[in-house]
Order: sequence, then structure tokens, then C-alpha cells
Amino acid sequence: MKQVVVLGATGSIGCSTLSVLAEHPEKFAVLALTAATGVDKLFAQCVQVKPRFAAMLDASAALQLAHRLKSAGLATEVLSGTEGLIALAAHPDADIVMAAIVGAAGLLPTLAAVEQGKTVLLANKEALVMTGELFMHKVAQHGATLLPIDSEHNAIFQCLPLPLQQAGHRASLPDFGIARLLLTGSGGPFLTRPLNTFADITIAEAVAHPNWSMGHKISVDSATMMNKGLEFIEARWLFNCTAADIQVVIHPQSIIHSMVQYTDGSVLAQLGQPDMRTPIAHALAFPERMSSPAKPLDFFALPSFTFSAPEPARYPNLYLAIAACAAGQGATTALNAANEVAVAAFLAGNIPFTAISLVNERCLDRFVSYQASALDDILALDTETRAYARQLLGAL
Ligand code: NAD
Ligand code: MG
Repeated sequence: MKQVVVLGATGSIGCSTLSVLAEHPEKFAVLALTAATGVDKLFAQCVQVKPRFAAMLDASAALQLAHRLKSAGLATEVLSGTEGLIALAAHPDADIVMAAIVGAAGLLPTLAAVEQGKTVLLANKEALVMTGELFMHKVAQHGATLLPIDSEHNAIFQCLPLPLQQAGHRASLPDFGIARLLLTGSGGPFLTRPLNTFADITIAEAVAHPNWSMGHKISVDSATMMNKGLEFIEARWLFNCTAADIQVVIHPQSIIHSMVQYTDGSVLAQLGQPDMRTPIAHALAFPERMSSPAKPLDFFALPSFTFSAPEPARYPNLYLAIAACAAGQGATTALNAANEVAVAAFLAGNIPFTAISLVNERCLDRFVSYQASALDDILALDTETRAYARQLLGAL
């Protein structure tokens, strides 16, 4: 019986994780669930899965949750604050930690799990974008097992030869005959929208992804293709390669989740429904397989597959991320911070869609050559970039 901690349990990935776990009560027990706010949802999840622990970032929400759990006769112990999240991520009884907090807020709890040598199922791509080198160094140093949840990276991982999967992200792709990684993306809701109407894009239009149902931040990132940019950087670290080894391919049907091209001309692809419960089940069961609630593919009901290159004018954020990836750690930390501020401002109705890439570009220009390798420097650069991005927003 594996003990699982779900960080970000109330989110899209968190809920999908609980749905997969519910199919396998003989294999997994839920040790802990965490969320930022939103007592009702976490309370309902606690009633359902009866974890030993729960944590909420917000202290007053945690108090309310504790009170309601006690009244309901549940013994779940409630922690609060970032310290509470970290304590649960690093709990000695945890075997598997699902890292599904959104944004930079996920960094410290995810690193805490890595430092305890846990099996870390990584959905929180921002953590790796911010700290790639340090993160992967800690994975190696503490003997953690890192399994990708992001559907593209999970697909690539599945298309790698077993010895490379087991090499723990330190082997080199060419040694295994790999020519390049083909990172697929749907192109989001604005793949064919006329460019001269981008300034009028509404919040509702931006979060309405054609194929995937996800949290708001990643949905906006998918619409700008910053999501693919963050994934580009994520792939660079997870698979120990360079920007030159990764190609982004638009595949609007979202059935091929990514591919690996070998030097002999073979291309291996992983296919499936656009349903995160497949990569979640894969990672939870790895190296075995187990069922998931995702529907099987029906090849006679599939649309035709199409492929194209992402247009730079349509997706400036993607190209900023590729540039940041080549520039180094400071650049990717800064770009991630700028993007979190800009997307939050767009979702609050304060800036137009087109301003997201403007803010990102100006922040990247300013911080592109910053060096940040130690955690304190990375966190300081993150804070400094956020302040600069807010200043830019004020001047828009
Ligand atoms: P979401 O917004 O639906 O959920 C986020 C979760 O994190 C919630 O439980 C929320 O309470 C918690 N949270 C938010 N801010 C927090 C903070 N400051 N401190 C602690 N907890 C906090 O997001 P999501 O769509 O589930 O995405 C989660 C992560 O997984 C993101 O990094 C995203 O990029 C990645 N991801 C998501 C999908 C998807 O299909 N949703 C796919 C691939 C990768
Ligand atoms: Mg993805």
C-alpha cells in the first residue's frame, strides 16, 4: 500500500488524481490533501477519502476546515501555511507526492519532497522552469524519483527506451539513438483567429480550451502558447537536452501527446484521449501499468490528424520562452515570474490579452542575463521581476 500526498488537491490535476486513486483502493492510501483556500471543496474531499492530514495555505481557512472536520467526526489533522504544505510534502510516511500546486507557490513544497527522496509526480511545471538546474541536481543528490505528469513529458517519457527511463534524467539522448523530441501542442483556442482581433480576446474566450479542461492559469498559458514555452524549458531539464533537441509541433486534435524521433528514422508517439487521468495513472503505477477512468481511444471515431509549425506573430510567448531557455536559468526564472503577474492581471480584467506578451518581453529583456543558481538568488530574482512587471502593468 503506497501512501500518497496530493499537493493542490482541489485543482484540476488534484481532482483527476483522486479520481484515479479511487479506482485502486487496494494499491494506494491518501496520506494528505492540500489546497490554498476553498474550504468547501477540501472538506468534501476529506470526507470522501479520509486522509490522515490536510493543509491549507490560508490560516483562517485551515481553522474553519479543522472545525468542520471535527464536527463531522473525522480525525484528519489540519496544518496551515507554507510550513504546513512543506511538512506534508516531506512527511516520513509519504511514498508518492503529487506536485499539483499551480505556479511558483509550488516550488518549496515540491523541493521539500525531492529533498526527502520521494517519488515526485511533477505537474507543477513552473517549479522546474524557475529552478531547473538546482531542481535536477537535488533529484540526483537525494535519490528522488521524478515522473512527469504534464501529458507531453509523460508521453516523451513513455517513448524512451527503458534504460533511459531508469537513468534518472542524467543520460544523454544521442547515446540512445535519439535525434530529437517532438513536443506537440494544440495551438489553443486562437489557432485560426484573425491576428487583428487579438486585443479583443475576452477572459471567457481565453480559458475555453478546445480539448482540455484545466485550471485558469494554464488555460490562458495554452491560449498564448506560453504553456508550450514552459513545457519546452521543462523538457530541456527533464530529458537532459538542449533547446536544439526540441521541436514544437502544432497538432490541434490533441491525440498524439508528443513524440520521440530516433536517428534511424523511427518516430515513437504516445496517443490517448486528452484526459490527464492517463498520465496520472501511468506515473502512479510506474513501472507497472494499471487502469484509469479515461476512455480508450476509438480509432474509427477519431478526427484526421494535422500538423503545422507555430507562427511567431501568433505566439510571441512561445518564442520568448525558447529564447529564455537558451539564455539560462535567470532568464527562465524571470520569464515565469513576469508571466504569472501578467496572466493574473489579464484574469482580473486589468489588461488586454495582447499585453501579456508585452510585459513578458520587457521583463525578459531586463533580466535576460541575470545569473541565479542558488535558491535564495532565484527567489530574489522572482520577487524583483514580479515588482518590475507590476510597475509595467501600472504604466500600460
Ligand atoms: P488549478 O488552478 O486547477 O489548481 C491549483 C491547485 O493549487 C489548487 O488546489 C489550489 O488550491 C492550489 N494552490 C493555488 N495557489 C496556491 C498557493 N499559493 N499555495 C498552495 N496551494 C495553492 O491548477 P491545475 O490546472 O490543476 O494545474 C496545477 C499544475 O499542474 C500547474 O502547474 C499546471 O501547469 C500543471 N498542469 C496542469 C494540467 C491540467 O490539465 N490541468 C496539465 C499539465 C500540467
Ligand atoms: Mg502539457
